[in-house]
Amino acid sequence: MSTTSAPPRQPVGRLFGRALVLTCPWCGSRRTFLRGWFRKYDRCRTCGISWHREEGFELGTITFNTIITFASIAIAMGVGFGVWGTDVPVLRFVLILGAVAVVMPLLIYPLTYTLWLAFDLSVHPPERSELDEAMAAVAAGLAELPPQLGQRRNRSA
Ligand SMILES: [Zn+2]
Repeated sequence: MSTTSAPPRQPVGRLFGRALVLTCPWCGSRRTFLRGWFRKYDRCRTCGISWHREEGFELGTITFNTIITFASIAIAMGVGFGVWGTDVPVLRFVLILGAVAVVMPLLIYPLTYTLWLAFDLSVHPPERSELDEAMAAVAAGLAELPPQLGQRRNRSA
């Protein structure tokens, strides 16, 4: 069993389940780091966990976004060929696939952040020090700052 100083761990299924409904993967709160559809706070406003836990975090979100978008295009192609068979109306088909390619990345944008954070937390659980820092940031009101400002304030604190 873990000692009292060991940081709590979350089951992987719970992390991803929370991420899928756009809540904080770590604490499950709806008051998470998402700020509207395209903007983000520095941290979850409830537990204080930061979404950019390391440099290059966005590469993971972009990868998730690309994989989901390409899968959606493949599914749309499968449905199109299923519906039209070999008699595909090419222009309409290309326009539909183009619409999927443009709309899907926008539609899943916040989801890719919560999903990638869930993945990151499952392979790299936070240390006690990270959780303590997160709660201190919430207490200090740093969680509701845009990322760049929040990081700057954190470093100077
Ligand atoms: Zn949280």
